[in-house]
Amino acid sequence: MKIGNPEEYFESLRGLDREVYLLGERIENTVDHPMVRPSANAVAESYNTGEEPEAGGLLFATSHLTGKKVSRFTHIHQGTNDLVNKVLMQRLLGRRTATCFQRCVGMDGLNALHSVTYECDLEHGTDYHRRLNDYIGWVQEENVVVDGAMTDVKGDRGRRPGDQDDPDMFVRIVDRASEGIVVRGAKAHQTGALNSHEILVMPTTAMREDEGEFAVSFAVPATASGITFVLGRQPSDTRKLEDSPLDVGNPGYGSQEALVIFDDVFVPAERVFLAGEHDQSGKVVDRFAAFHRQSYGGCKVGVGDVLIGAAQLVADYQGVARASHIRDKITEMIHLNETLFCCGIACSARGRKTPAGSYMVDVLLANICKLNVTRFPFEISRMLQDIAGGMIATMPSEKDFKNARVGPVLDKYLKGRSGIPTMDRIKVLKFIENMTIGCGAAAYLTESVHGAGSPQAQRIMISRLADLDEKVRLARRIARIED
Ligand code: SF4
Ligand code: FE
Repeated sequence: MKIGNPEEYFESLRGLDREVYLLGERIENTVDHPMVRPSANAVAESYNTGEEPEAGGLLFATSHLTGKKVSRFTHIHQGTNDLVNKVLMQRLLGRRTATCFQRCVGMDGLNALHSVTYECDLEHGTDYHRRLNDYIGWVQEENVVVDGAMTDVKGDRGRRPGDQDDPDMFVRIVDRASEGIVVRGAKAHQTGALNSHEILVMPTTAMREDEGEFAVSFAVPATASGITFVLGRQPSDTRKLEDSPLDVGNPGYGSQEALVIFDDVFVPAERVFLAGEHDQSGKVVDRFAAFHRQSYGGCKVGVGDVLIGAAQLVADYQGVARASHIRDKITEMIHLNETLFCCGIACSARGRKTPAGSYMVDVLLANICKLNVTRFPFEISRMLQDIAGGMIATMPSEKDFKNARVGPVLDKYLKGRSGIPTMDRIKVLKFIENMTIGCGAAAYLTESVHGAGSPQAQRIMISRLADLDEKVRLARRIARIED
C-alpha cells in the first residue's frame, strides 16, 4: 500500500492539482485550509491503525485479487464475515472521530459495481468486469481515497433524466470514441470529494431504453481536466476560521460535501464500467444504496456512542447524573443506538454470495437499517439537548472566556457541580452544540435523513421486497379463511 499512514495521506493531497472553490475563492492547497483540514483528519483515521486492539483486523483485509494486505476501504467483500467487519470498522471510526470519515462511499461503489459489471458482461458481452478488477487492484496497491459519486443534481424532480429541459441535469455521455468517452454533468453533495484522489461515478437512477447516455459509470482522477469542485457550507463552518477551537466543538474532526462538476471530461476506455447498458443502471443504484444503508448501521452508531458519552458527562458536570429521568433518557439513547447497530449487523450476517463471487448485504434489512437511521439520531439528539440544557445555544465565545475583564466572571457564573472546572463543562456543551445544531449536525442529522437515499427511497424498497402476499397467506391459514 503506497499511502501507508496519515502523514503520507496528507502529503498525497498536497500534490493534487485541482480546481477547487471555497467561499468564492479558488484554493490550491485544500488539506492545510482550516475549513477543510478537520474533514481530512477524519479520512486520515482510516490510515491510522490506532490504539484499539481490534483495529488492525478491522481496518485491513486480504485482497482476493493479490492475497496482499489492503485497506478494507478498498476491499471486495468475500463473505458475511467481511460484511460484519465492515460495520464494526465503521463503528470504530465513528467513535474515534464523531463524524463522517467519508471513505465508505468508494468502498460501497466498488462493491456494487463488482457484481453488476460481472452480470453486465454476461448479458451484453462487455469487458467491464476485467476493467473494474484492474482498477480495484490499482486502488488497493496505491491505497487511494475514492469518492463514490451517485447523486445527480436532478433539475425538475417531476421529470425523468431524458425529459429535462437541460440534459446536463444528469451526468451523461456527450461523445464516444474507441479510446474512451466524454462526460458532462454534476454530482451533488459529494462526501469527502476534496479529500479524494479518485472519483467513481455511478448513475443515480434506473434508466429507460432511450436514456442510455445517462447509464454511465466510470472512474477518473480528481485532477482530470474539466472537473471543478465547489465546497458546500455547513452550519457555523466559519468558526473554523476564527482561531477559536473551543467554539468549533469538535476541533479535530469534521465532514465535507462538495458539488463536483464535469465539464466535458475525457474518460479512457479502461476506466469505463458502464456506457449505455440502461438495464444495468438500476442494479448499480440498488446495490450501492443497499451497501451504504448498511454502512450507516456502523458509522452513525459510533457517533452515537460519543453522544451518549457526552450526555453522561454533561449530566455529571451539571450535578444531575443520578436523577432517575436522566438515567432513563440515557438508557433510551443506548437502546436506539444499539437498535441501529443490530440492523447493521443483521443485514451483514444475512448477506449472500453474488454470481461474481463477492458478497451482497440483505437488501430488505439494509433498507430497514437506513429507515431507522432517518429517525433515531434525531431522537438521540433531542434527548441529548434535553439533558444538556439551553446553554448549548447561548454560550459566550472562546474569546470572551479569554477576555481579562469578563473571562473570570464567566468562569464563576457558568460553573456546574463543585470540583469540575467551568471550562470542562463548556467544552462538552460546545461539542453537543456542534453535533446537534452546528456543523457536526450536517453529518449526524441531515445526512442521516438524505445520505444513501432519502426516506421515501427506503420505503419503496421495503414495500417492494417484503413479501406481503406471503404474509396474507399466513394470516388466512391461521384464521382458517378459505381461498
Ligand atoms: Fe462512511 Fe458514514 Fe460517512 Fe457514509 S456517512 S461515508 S458510511 S462515515
Ligand atoms: Fe453518507
